[in-house]
Amino acid sequence: MKAPRTIRVRGIPVGAGVAVATARVVIARSPSVPKRHIPPTLVELEIERLRRSVKASRDAVTTLRERLRSSEGETAAALLDPLVQMHHDPMLVERAVEHVRAGNVNAEFAVIRAVDDSAKVLESSASVYLRERADDIRHVGRHIVRALRGERRTDDVEESYILLADDLSPAELALASRSSLAGIATTTGSGTSHTALLARSMGIPAVVGARYLSLDRIEGAQVIVDGLRGEVVVHPTDEVRDAAKQRSERFEAFSCQLAARRDLPVATTDGVEIDLRANLDFASDAAAVARFGLAGVGLFRTEYLVLGGARMPTEDEQTEIYTAVVRALAGLPMVLRTFDLGGDKVRDGAPSSTSLMGRTGIRRSLIHTDELRHQLRAVLRASAHGPIALLFPRVTRLDDLEAARAIFDQCRAELAEAAIPVGDVPVGVMIEVPAAALLADRFAEHCDFFAIGTNDLTQFTLAIDRSDEVLAEAADPLDPSVLELVARAVRAARKAGIPCSVCGDVATDPVALPLLLGLGVTSFSVPRDRAPFVAEGIRRSSATDAKLVAERALELGSAREVRAMCLERFAPRLADLWVEQGIAPIEG
Ligand code: PEP
Ligand code: MG
Repeated sequence: MKAPRTIRVRGIPVGAGVAVATARVVIARSPSVPKRHIPPTLVELEIERLRRSVKASRDAVTTLRERLRSSEGETAAALLDPLVQMHHDPMLVERAVEHVRAGNVNAEFAVIRAVDDSAKVLESSASVYLRERADDIRHVGRHIVRALRGERRTDDVEESYILLADDLSPAELALASRSSLAGIATTTGSGTSHTALLARSMGIPAVVGARYLSLDRIEGAQVIVDGLRGEVVVHPTDEVRDAAKQRSERFEAFSCQLAARRDLPVATTDGVEIDLRANLDFASDAAAVARFGLAGVGLFRTEYLVLGGARMPTEDEQTEIYTAVVRALAGLPMVLRTFDLGGDKVRDGAPSSTSLMGRTGIRRSLIHTDELRHQLRAVLRASAHGPIALLFPRVTRLDDLEAARAIFDQCRAELAEAAIPVGDVPVGVMIEVPAAALLADRFAEHCDFFAIGTNDLTQFTLAIDRSDEVLAEAADPLDPSVLELVARAVRAARKAGIPCSVCGDVATDPVALPLLLGLGVTSFSVPRDRAPFVAEGIRRSSATDAKLVAERALELGSAREVRAMCLERFAPRLADLWVEQGIAPIEG
């Protein structure tokens, strides 16, 4: 038999190596479900099969939630709540039953019809929240169809596999069996989209935004996901597969070598000490931070606690989670960011929110002050058990910062009144909107530290949606306009004598890292598994040399020029490290 043709598709590299495994297309948007005629005498049997499969699917998801809860904790398990809840929706099942009866059609076809009916209504809603439920309902439909077909679920898969999808929600990622999940490739999303962030925090080779990857008829095929080069190869030849395996092994070996250096100081060749911390997306990962030799948590993205549409955690639940995290950090400091919800970024539970940009971050918190108060009180209560700093996201106006601080002070006073112990909690501002960078000197007078979020700062400065795979290349944080704003924030922090870190993903870009050192950044927060590479990049860089490059970068006219200069100027010290991370060295 003729071997299938090898298909190569470019995408955006998300790092963490190279995976070679079997494809599982779990999230094809509309699974092809053929329509079959069911003889009238067998219709009731078909309905019985439908109801049995709904129950099987519901039980499976509930069991999975339980399993996740014991392995990953309640936070991760809660991501599955919408899926569990929608399996209990009687309307959906009854609609499918009606379709079987009215059309004498097979249960699979009826389920997809019923799901489509509900999803279309939701998709036409003005509310972001309701539109996003449409995805959930389609997701439930796919589960039921799989149960009807007797297919194995991804959490049951024993052998290693690569998840291929148009896009993946955190809940869908949580559904995948972590132990056999070898890699991820999606057709949508950019390097700072949430799928990418989650893949990074799971340390799995991933490629996102592989626009030309067709998900049809590749289930079960052998696939390579090259998270270093940003390439997906379907049906590789033996030669291509062996080369990929070799690259994977080399990357693993190099990662291990670097990990073994974790106890070495993180400082530049000319002695500038750098504070290197981890971003924390899953509370259950906190214990690993100290093991990786990191200086603490630089960004705890607490919105992941509510992602997936689960209800907002109560004050007590949050106190428990935050306390568990500080305890796991055993004295290392943690920067906890208040829920950064809203808009395009994550699921917003606020009814009828149609605002894509405005009502997000701190502004959204100031609308939902009850939620903010619960979170602030929980942070304060947890601060009695270890060092916590509080960070407000997407800050644009001093007025908003002052309003949020006033609520924080009130919470502190209430707790003092009730004789509940709290620690000292410094308050920081994320610099991720040009307004905040432009007024950084004024913000610096009203807060205790800055954290620069280059993912959003790039999106808002360049007016490019961070999840847009088509414009992903143009959304380069090395654009001189973005660098100018970063430099401005760093200068303001230095002048005011407050710490300033970079916690956007640009810090994991091995070409950009020395440039940031040159701009005077001395503190970074990065996904944990990228930390050894970042530490090594720092150890090989000279802050003095990098400063000269950074000064020149601020005078250039485009990200392309800045990148070319960085590649040329930093190559002598860093080229071999770049090669290990999939970046081709420059010629000559
Ligand atoms: C950023 O915007 O750079 C950032 C760190 O925050 P997030 O990626 O969570 O929006
Ligand atoms: Mg941000």
